[in-house]
Amino acid sequence: MGAIGDNLQAVRARIAAAALAAGRDPSSVGLLAVSKTFGACAVVEARAAGQQAFGESYVQEAVDKIAVVADPGIEWHFIGPLQSNKTRQVAEHFDWVHSVASLKIARRLSEQRPAARGALSVCLQVNVSGEATKAGVSEAELPALAAAVAALPGLRLRGLMCIPAPADGVDAQRQPFAHLARMRERLRAGGFALDTLSMGMSDDLEAAIAEGATWVRVGTAIFGARTAAGAGTIGA
Ligand SMILES: *Cc1c(COP(=O)(O)O)cnc(C)c1O
Repeated sequence: MGAIGDNLQAVRARIAAAALAAGRDPSSVGLLAVSKTFGACAVVEARAAGQQAFGESYVQEAVDKIAVVADPGIEWHFIGPLQSNKTRQVAEHFDWVHSVASLKIARRLSEQRPAARGALSVCLQVNVSGEATKAGVSEAELPALAAAVAALPGLRLRGLMCIPAPADGVDAQRQPFAHLARMRERLRAGGFALDTLSMGMSDDLEAAIAEGATWVRVGTAIFGARTAAGAGTIGA
């Protein structure tokens, strides 16, 4: 097996151990392989090692890669910041969007979703750290956005996503994830059928799984370090 296959096996082992430690079924935690900045060959290698779901953050890079990989068995998830002039490509080429943070973007995705592809699964990205620079809807705005998005015919609201500020140690890492899980519980109590918590990355997936993550989004631990200027390239 190549390096990517070995890394995938190690990440799957981390997920299984964290799930078992939390009294959860490891199969209840999905692994999203975040392939942004890595080329089509990296995706093909991970796919050959059994990986099915891939996450991308840059629209043009992703659309090019999806065409090159041309594998209908792959589920593509958009997880990056989304501007309104890029929604059509995302609506046409992706299966999920984890980073919906405004009604304007949600409406465009719903209108532009091709009927033949079925509803686009979406998560609302919540700003759990309260930093002005971080993307995401605030906790105060969340219930109204959830209600509006749930009513859009081209979308299926699945749950919540967050990218907390980095923290040291599992206890500190767990706090924002627990917060997001409580927000989902409140929405569920209000009648929303939400089955998804998208939270946890290479450095904090154990903490996220302890708090109920159903998707962990893992890049570095699978594909290696990204170069700072790597975005947008689609080399070998
Ligand atoms: C890049 C990215 C990841 C993966 O981060 P790693 O630390 O490399 O695992 C996860 N989620 C989002 C939204 C990202 O942009």
